[in-house]
Amino acid sequence: MLHFASPASPVDYLEMPIQTLKVGSLGTHNALGIALAKQARFLLASTSEVYGDPLVHPQPETYWGNVNPVGPRGCYDEAKRFAEAITMAYHRAQGVDTRIVRIFNTYGPRMRPGDGRVVSNFIVQALHGLPLSLYGDGSQTRSFCYVDDEVDGIYRLFLSDVHDPLNVGNPVEFTVRELATLVLELTGSMSTITNHPLPTDDPKVRQPDITRARTLLAWEPRVPLREGLARTIEYFRGLSGSARMQPPT
Ligand code: UDP
Repeated sequence: MLHFASPASPVDYLEMPIQTLKVGSLGTHNALGIALAKQARFLLASTSEVYGDPLVHPQPETYWGNVNPVGPRGCYDEAKRFAEAITMAYHRAQGVDTRIVRIFNTYGPRMRPGDGRVVSNFIVQALHGLPLSLYGDGSQTRSFCYVDDEVDGIYRLFLSDVHDPLNVGNPVEFTVRELATLVLELTGSMSTITNHPLPTDDPKVRQPDITRARTLLAWEPRVPLREGLARTIEYFRGLSGSARMQPPT
């Protein structure tokens, strides 16, 4: 069983905080019950958000995180932290064959144009000639993993016998401003960049320590950001003219 159910874009979980908490807690409980009854292998999609606004950089799996439980992002972070806790409890107490992947920022073709996350926002805005919406001063960092690499890492984890949470992400770190500049270059867009307020509790840095994934899964991301962005831009160009290609609001 692959349990990926949850809103994961900040705009989505900020709009649906109760559903996000329920799917991470009650939904994960239900899914683990089915895995136990069917003796199924169970993989939980967790997140780098369990590290919150991290005080350790890059983040190894042993870091317990710096999460504001009552801030607007708390609904997602705490749902996933609970989901990890209950998954480990079912593993230890009931012997369920569990895996937990901590997914870092991932992007690629087939993202929704209105997803709200930074990569799709910048590409769709650039292709429409609209200003790129930079939150804060753009000095915050993220480390972007191309979807094919992410799927490969998750699949290897699923086939492994690793029960502790494992980071799967690309460790090459960029500022969000660098990402904006790269999107403008690769699209050839004349769009400008406009500043918007930084969302509450937006993590200032994020970069996975993937030593364990390298060692235990012999896994490593292969697609550099420039190449992955070019493929993603091509995908969004192919959507132009379709009703789906609405710029993010
Ligand atoms: N961000 C931005 N402009 C956007 C969307 C996001 O500058 O249009 C920033 C956001 O503030 C964060 C980073 O880009 O610092 C990544 O945001 P995203 O929503 O993609 O995912 P997060 O890593 O916050 O879960």
